[in-house]
Amino acid sequence: MSMLLSYPSLRSLLILCSSAFFLTACSSSTEIDHRASPEAATKRMAKTAQHHSNAMISVANPLAAKTGYDILRAGGNALDAAIAAQMVLNLVEPQSSGIGGGGFLLIYDPATKSVISYDGRETAPHLADEYLFINKDGKKMKFFEAAVGGRAVGTPGLVQMLDTAHQQFGQMNWPDLFDDAISLSRNGFAVSERLHMLTAKDKFLKADPVARRYFYQPNDQPHPVGTLLKNPALAHSLSLIQKYRSKGFYEGPLAQDMVTKVKNHPTNPGQLSLNDLRQYKAKQRAALCNSYRIYNVCGMAPPSSGGLTVLEILGLIEHYDLNNDPKPEIDRDHLLLEASKLAFADRNHFIADPDFVKVPVKQLLSKSYLSERQTLIRHNSSLATPVTPGGPFLFSHYAPHDQDHGISTTHMSIIDENGMVVSITTSIENAFGSRQMIGGFLLNNQLTDFSFAPAKNGQLIANRVEAGKRPRSSMAPTIVLDQKNKRPVLAIGSPGGSRIIGYVTQSLIHILDQNMALDKAIAKGHLTNRNGSSDLEQGTDAENLEEKLEQLGHTVTLKPMVSGLHAIQVHKDGSLTGAADPRREGIVLGY
Ligand code: GLU
Repeated sequence: MSMLLSYPSLRSLLILCSSAFFLTACSSSTEIDHRASPEAATKRMAKTAQHHSNAMISVANPLAAKTGYDILRAGGNALDAAIAAQMVLNLVEPQSSGIGGGGFLLIYDPATKSVISYDGRETAPHLADEYLFINKDGKKMKFFEAAVGGRAVGTPGLVQMLDTAHQQFGQMNWPDLFDDAISLSRNGFAVSERLHMLTAKDKFLKADPVARRYFYQPNDQPHPVGTLLKNPALAHSLSLIQKYRSKGFYEGPLAQDMVTKVKNHPTNPGQLSLNDLRQYKAKQRAALCNSYRIYNVCGMAPPSSGGLTVLEILGLIEHYDLNNDPKPEIDRDHLLLEASKLAFADRNHFIADPDFVKVPVKQLLSKSYLSERQTLIRHNSSLATPVTPGGPFLFSHYAPHDQDHGISTTHMSIIDENGMVVSITTSIENAFGSRQMIGGFLLNNQLTDFSFAPAKNGQLIANRVEAGKRPRSSMAPTIVLDQKNKRPVLAIGSPGGSRIIGYVTQSLIHILDQNMALDKAIAKGHLTNRNGSSDLEQGTDAENLEEKLEQLGHTVTLKPMVSGLHAIQVHKDGSLTGAADPRREGIVLGY
């Protein structure tokens, strides 16, 4: 395996690019680099890897980490800590997730030694149809034309999901989980570097008068780093949920305000109704688990493509030995990218909301299908893209990979003293979601995860918009178990749009196959392929793979990649290691 340097070598890029670090000028792509500055990341690196033996939280913001930690210390379980930390994230990392959005939750229950999953994905309003993102001229809308305003707001699922899971697994009283977030909202928190940077760069947030008043100073400049920002409106919204559980959100004044905001948008109204909110139900689904070497890797089933695609990539590479053999039978970087290409071809074609479309989950993960599909991987040359999906399965539907603007979303991993593990990824989709703010929080634009076009070449697209349907996601909260004794060995996940799948898979390989230290694995330069170009993380030693991969026939592009991997590893002796991605602002706390 080529020695990839870790993320802090971005410093060299900074020297070359000087102040252009966050701009596209130094980038070979049009993507904006939202990673933390190398200085900030290096400072944080020292604090991010932690070793403890009782309980731990790894999350995207220090204030949320402290809240989760305090709940664990006070006897709350991992789910209690996740709920309390999530409410704080809504305040301090409002660009990524919150009650106006949705998410997916995995819980390892030590009592049954099994993984349970909850789907809190947003749904399309009942008045929406497949033409939601088609303009009057019959053409697909541009991404931000669709995303900003009321149009792409799906019925939020986060509050219902957490309420449902808490009724089953919660240990502390629901109201106690809101105290921290409410008092921080009232008393204020210091604006972080990342929040400052993202508000400074955002082109659409100011157009919403409520968001403008909150996120900017009267002179329209973003609040400087360190400004004490208070959000009494969020304190009020959270106190309604604290008191009435999800009813406080899906019914009453908050529900009315959300509907009014969405329907009355001056240029891009949406269709969210009181009925959509009242009828929203989070779903408990069977976690998607498959064996990988000596492990059982569990992820989120559709409507997320995250679990299935991670498992398919792993299934394809399982045929090769990936340990630290100095002369592997196949170049490992090439193998990862080729397997990813093949799995993404299937993902793009087959995966959508399983309540609307039959997704061939079992077929795609069967050992016979995977051994046949892996024979397509050639040792000495790269497959031309796009590769075609596999099969034949008994049906066919076309579900192309659509746009991808993921720089938002958040992931946390938590383990408590009794061995309950939580791996939860939550999102309002794009950074600052739909840019529509009410009640101190932002509404999602998750419906843009649907295919904008309803059909292609005369075939209906599986992931087209339909009333009540959940848009396909890439979120991949993951829990890995030791196959023999069914004990957890790892909890991990990341934001990053459809690249989440690559970030999680690559980390799993580094940790499970190569025994790499958790913090090193997470900081490693990324390489992803979504059935197109092989993308290498700009400013890291992943760039050094360019020549080798081009010789193998890959089309290589260099891109900034803003993962936000937060992970906890459980060692054989029961001790814990946690790590937080240096590209964002997260930390690990434990005891
Ligand atoms: N909306 C994306 C999804 O559900 C996540 C976006 C992101 O990671 O920024 O897959």
